Amino acid sequence: MTLKQWELDLAQWVQPHNIRRNESLKKYTMTKLGGKADLFVLPATEEQAAAVVKYAYEHKIPLLMLGNGSNMVVRDGGIRGIVIHFALLNEVRIEGNHVFVQSGALIKEVSKMVAAQSLTGFEFACGIPGSIGGAMAMNAGAYGGEVKDIVTSCTVLTPEGEQIVLTNEQLELTYRKSIIAKKGYYVLSATFQLTSGDQQEIDAKIADLTHQRESKQPLEYPSAGSVFKRPPGYFAGKLIQDSDLQGKGVGGAEVSTKHAGFIVNKDNASATDYIETIKMVQKVVKEKFNVDLEMEVKIVGED
Ligand code: FAD
Repeated sequence: MTLKQWELDLAQWVQPHNIRRNESLKKYTMTKLGGKADLFVLPATEEQAAAVVKYAYEHKIPLLMLGNGSNMVVRDGGIRGIVIHFALLNEVRIEGNHVFVQSGALIKEVSKMVAAQSLTGFEFACGIPGSIGGAMAMNAGAYGGEVKDIVTSCTVLTPEGEQIVLTNEQLELTYRKSIIAKKGYYVLSATFQLTSGDQQEIDAKIADLTHQRESKQPLEYPSAGSVFKRPPGYFAGKLIQDSDLQGKGVGGAEVSTKHAGFIVNKDNASATDYIETIKMVQKVVKEKFNVDLEMEVKIVGED
């Protein structure tokens, strides 16, 4: 089957302007690097999303789910097959203490919306730049809070395109892991339970967390956030700092001088620069401290 045929077939369900051929993924990832997707598809409804997933499954076409691209590095050769992106599925409904959110809404925006309704529990997410779908898949967390603490259910599509609802327990949420990533599910929406809080306290907490983030993280440069998971008994950033790696890197990529856990795209880095910098950090930390740094960021695509 040709790319043209995929396009024609998908146009049965998805509006043609939401099906894009050879789309550069630089603009959809926060590292601002990497190659193109053969086909980039933006479903406008959950039914369209299910149709695309079923189509890819039935025709054995590789399908990659891209959230807000804040934890993903796309290799320079780009992605063969279809990249599906849920940015148009972004409804947010607040009903009492319950919040229903579609996958493409940004978690930090939701955090602010619920805060404005004096609901507490979502403050930890006020600076996390991912989508709800990505946050569910990664069990995103910060400053002592994580998605696991507040999610009640999550509606997903299976790789075959069937819709199922998972409870908090069924989501198997642990440190940056979930059943979603394990089984290759596609998140359509999630429901969260919050509690009524004091508006001043909520606002103060958000202001404090925002200040902590802005003062410690190199938000002025494109990056994928913390590149490595916290190794048991250590902090990745401290190991990297103590390895004297800050300011070092390959090509246009560099270990941040502000936060050693971040690798920034300092000067038109390629994905190869970024990935080689990751490998260099892993090698030096292993040699110096005998600690294996496991990646938190997802590297996808072809060289
Ligand atoms: P993407 O990066 O697009 O994808 C990440 C993974 O999730 C991929 O495997 C992708 O396939 C999968 N995925 C995305 N959407 C869906 C979906 N709808 N269904 C199924 N799978 C999906 N993370 C934290 O946990 N805490 C932080 O404090 C934090 N701070 C950050 C700060 C900066 C400056 C940056 C750049 C990143 C930071 N991150 C942090 C990382 C990132 O924001 C989170 O991991 C976020 O949850 C990823 O969401 P995303 O939508 O961007 O996912």
